[in-house]
Amino acid sequence: MNILVCVKQIPDPATPGELDSDSSLKREGKLILDESDSYGVEMALQLVEAAGGGAVSLFSMAPNEETSGLRTALAMGAEKAILVSDDALAGTDALGTAKVIAKAVERVGEVDLVMTATESTDGYTGTVPAQVAELLGWPSLTFARHIEISDGSVTIQRQTEAGYDTVTCGLPAVVSVTAGVVEPRYPSFKGIMAAKSKPLDVVKAGDLGLAAEQLGWAGARQEVSSVEPAPERQAGEKIEDEGDAHERIVSFLEDLKII
Ligand SMILES: Cc1cc2nc3c(=O)[nH]c(=O)nc-3n(C[C@H](O)[C@H](O)[C@H](O)COP(=O)(O)OP(=O)(O)OC[C@H]3O[C@@H](n4cnc5c(N)ncnc54)[C@H](O)[C@@H]3O)c2cc1C
Repeated sequence: MNILVCVKQIPDPATPGELDSDSSLKREGKLILDESDSYGVEMALQLVEAAGGGAVSLFSMAPNEETSGLRTALAMGAEKAILVSDDALAGTDALGTAKVIAKAVERVGEVDLVMTATESTDGYTGTVPAQVAELLGWPSLTFARHIEISDGSVTIQRQTEAGYDTVTCGLPAVVSVTAGVVEPRYPSFKGIMAAKSKPLDVVKAGDLGLAAEQLGWAGARQEVSSVEPAPERQAGEKIEDEGDAHERIVSFLEDLKII
């Protein structure tokens, strides 16, 4: 069982993000493993352990040959990683990112399962996983909260508002994993030391056979037209109980279509 987990390396969400003049997020300095992707790494490690063989590989596309987030995932137990880092990728949109991932899957070879989060923390279009599946011509299973592999097929519990659906397809496939469904392991000291010498293949877009006009600002079909600060939270409505508070709360929730 060979699994490739896509891990996005993002600016630390604990510090306020800054935008460039073109409205893209500044991604200078250290980037960390997106917490959303730590669940996919953990699930992949558990699946390979359960299968009794195979490997977990990592993919990341990031500027400045940044590897800090990848090293965290390697320290958790992944075996090796491929990083695509290239100035020509500046401005690459979600579809361009999916094209890079699909080509990286071909380069890694013998991949049974590609795993992603359902959406990243900093960009969160949530469109990359389905685009990767389409480009590879593989089935796409989404919002997985539990995954099982057996006899050349993958079965997931697909999270829904009411509970979950059970969905099965043949391998290879692309599965996106819902956040918070497993407890990602902390890298041990031994894991952190071992991660320093694990194989990390750093490649350019051209090494994957991608033409410059497919990528970057030139290839982007999405455009950030404007960016507005999020509106301030409005003051809430205070309900004094004069014997009818329950009715007013029900009416308030009905107006919001919550009940
Ligand atoms: C017009 C435009 C210009 C942009 N310019 C830049 C730029 O100059 N520099 C820049 O850094 N970003 C740029 N971005 C953002 C970047 O391209 C997005 O990260 C990318 O489009 C992926 O979208 P997402 O994060 O919304 O993916 P989602 O669909 O929300 O991500 C789902 C999952 O896909 C996987 N995934 C997504 N992106 C990556 C990745 N990079 N590596 C590994 N796995 C990944 C992860 O598992 C992730 O959790 C730009 C975006 C747009 C729309």
